[in-house]
This record gives sequence, structure tokens and C-alpha cells, in this order.
Amino acid sequence: MSHSELNTTHDPRRQSWVESANAAETDFPLQNLPYGVFEHEGQVSWGVAIGSQVLDVRALANLHLLHSDAWVAAQSVQGHELNALMGLEPAMLHALRLSLSALLGADTPSDEFNASSQKKIKRLSKVLLLERDAVQMRLPCAIGDYTDFLTSQYHTERHGRFKGLAEPLPAAFKHLPVAYHGRASSIRVSGTPVVRPNGQYKDSAGQVVFGPSTMLDFELELAGLVGRGNALGQPIALDHAQAHFFGWVLLNDWSAKSIQWWESVLGPFLGKSFMSSISPWIVTQEALLPFRIPQQARAAGDPRALPYLQSAWDRAQGGFDIEMQAWLQTATQRALGEPGLQITQTHLKHLYWTFGQMLTHHTSNGCNLRSGDLLGSGTVSGPTDESRACITEITHAAKVPLAVGHGETRIDLQDGDAITLKAKAKNATAVSIGFGECTGVVLAAAAYPNPQESLT
Ligand code: MN
Repeated sequence: MSHSELNTTHDPRRQSWVESANAAETDFPLQNLPYGVFEHEGQVSWGVAIGSQVLDVRALANLHLLHSDAWVAAQSVQGHELNALMGLEPAMLHALRLSLSALLGADTPSDEFNASSQKKIKRLSKVLLLERDAVQMRLPCAIGDYTDFLTSQYHTERHGRFKGLAEPLPAAFKHLPVAYHGRASSIRVSGTPVVRPNGQYKDSAGQVVFGPSTMLDFELELAGLVGRGNALGQPIALDHAQAHFFGWVLLNDWSAKSIQWWESVLGPFLGKSFMSSISPWIVTQEALLPFRIPQQARAAGDPRALPYLQSAWDRAQGGFDIEMQAWLQTATQRALGEPGLQITQTHLKHLYWTFGQMLTHHTSNGCNLRSGDLLGSGTVSGPTDESRACITEITHAAKVPLAVGHGETRIDLQDGDAITLKAKAKNATAVSIGFGECTGVVLAAAAYPNPQESLT
């Protein structure tokens, strides 16, 4: 049994004694066990989501209800960030997952220590198991660097056509995973409102103006969090790339496309850096093992990837069977208690490059990645209309307004609109696991310059 093959933690027959984890529609069954950092009654702790609850793993370790490598792994977390845990050897992370799975399973653990711990956890469940609704989620780790890729051919080609480019797909697109360096300091956890940025752009009359941005958009993405990094000057080969991902979260790469399209001489800048949102629960590498699928085949006539971006394992298992959705809820719908409108239904298989190829390309010049670095996939748009994963694509760059109910239409996001991203890994043989939600509401732009600002 090991961390890189299916094991008892994936067994679809196993259930949890936490009843809500056995519900068919839950994102967090026993087979998931994603890690997150939360605040409860003024105290910050970390743990795993299980059904509608959270198991406080820090408290578990402090009470010595974990043993051997599982206890050592849990003790690595100091402070309010999971980076040290994320940087551990996969075998240590496997030991922790194996213990948590045994402790939360409906069956009595065969290991005597775990059997006794399970009894104690049940007795102390009021303290150790918290309602997810009752805790405030925080960013799970310190994100030192954020890189956002552009790996959907469909998203890239549609944008190229909107901009009137003769060649909608850049020449490099099929040769390398294209990316830009994003801004890590403005990444926030799901639930944080996004304030419409002020900025410079060309208005509809062709005038260059400064003010509240127009064409505000969301981008539905999945993002990998780096576990073990690499030293400067030491690239990571594609066959080793997967072992450097700790896990994945949902990412909303909020974009002010009016600003972005005017300023992008050297790449995106202020049109992106005002804020990006991620979901709070990190779905781990090991939890996603049952959902590995082959990389999407290249079309006939596409160039072969250069050797450093090719591996048999990556071709066979570099992709994930993950369905993704975006929902838009207007202020009117929220006031009426309506869930809003599902505006995107897509799948991660539409990406041209795998996460392994993104990481390998990123380090191929010697660039060092560090534990907690975030690598976004780029907008996960597919070939069909329903799989367009941002408003710009859905509305053909504002030419075809989207009806959103109650007589309202959208060509871009309006103040009061909320965007919620969701994703689920599923197939015929495994228990489906979800990512929870990545949500945020758009607030009106702040006055500029800020009247609160003083020069003293
Ligand atoms: Mn993006």
C-alpha cells in the first residue's frame, strides 16, 4: 500500500460514522479529507472537512489521538499556515491521511491505538467536530508566488477572435504552456467580496479614461498548490512533477478586461492584480488518484511536444476527471432567496496541457518553486457553448447579452452580482469528491483618490 496507488482510503465501500459524510451529494465524503485552516470562537486551527463538519486535526494532535508518522506530520504545522505540512514527503502525508481515514471510518480501526482514539473522538465530538457553517475559513497557506497559465485552446482562440487577431491562437500556444506571473498578495479566500477596481482603459468612444472599470469578468479555473519545491537551478522532470503538487483548489481569476486589454503590452497587470479568490479546502493529490485520466489527445497536425514536455505516465494519467460549474446570482435574486443561474458547465479535460507539464515548464529554466506557490490552469473553457467559462466568451465580448432573470441582462458583471464556482471529481467506480465553493460578490468601486488617505 502506498500514497501513489489506490488504497483503503479510496475504498468506495467505506462510510463514516459522521452521518453527513455518507450523503450522496456531499463534496466531503470519507474518501476526500481535504485540508483547510479555520477560525472558531476567536481561535485559529486547521483540519479536514468531513460531510457538513470539520475535524480539528490540531486539537487531535495536541491530545495525542494520532500516533507515529501521522502525529509527526500533524505536528509540523506551526502557526496559521499549512506550508510545512504541504512540504512533507508523500509517505508522511499518506500516514496522516491513513490515520484520519481510519479514525473517521464507520468501521473500528484494526490498529489498537486508532481504535482507542476513535472512541475518544466520538466522546469528545462536541469539541473536535465543528459545524462547517460555524467556522470562518482562512487562506490555507502562505502563497509566496502565483502563476496563472492559459491552457484552454478554446478560451484562447475565442479571445483572439474578439480582439480581431489574424491568428487567434498565438504561435507558441501548442509548443509550451503559456503563463503570466500573477499577484500573490491580493489572493483572498472564498467569501471575500471583490471591489470593482478603478483603472485606465479605452471607453466605447475610443477615449482613454480613468475610473471604475467596465467589462468586469470572472474566470473559472483550477489551481495546483505546490507541496515540495525545488532549489534554484534544479528543474523538475515531468516524471517527477506530480509528486511536487500537494493538492488543488478552485480559483476565480477576477479580470477587469477593459483595463487588461488596454494595458497588456507586456502581459496582464492591474486588470488582474486587484484580487483573486480561491476555495478554502485543498483537495489532495492522494484523494484525486482515482480520478486520473489520460491527457487530451493532440489533434492531427498539431506539433509534437518537445521531449522535456513528454512522458508516458503524463500522457496516460496526467489529466483529471473533474466537472466544473459557474453560477451567477444577481442582487435581485439574492434578495428573493433564489440560487441564481448556472452559466457554465465544463470539464478539466478540455485543457491542452496537464498540470505536470505546467510545473515542469515553469522550472525548466531553473526557476525555483516553493511550498504554497499557486499555479492556475487558466480559464477552463471547452468547445461547446455551455462550457464557456467567463462572461466575455458567453456574451461574444458584449455582443450577445446574457439573460439572467427578472428581465435583467448582462454583458459584464454588475455591482451586487455574486459568482460561485464549484467542481466535482467523479467516475463510475469511485466515490465522487468535491471542492466546496469559491464565491464572491462584486462591490461598487471605491472613490478615487481615497478620501481616507492622508499624507501625514
Ligand atoms: Mn486566468
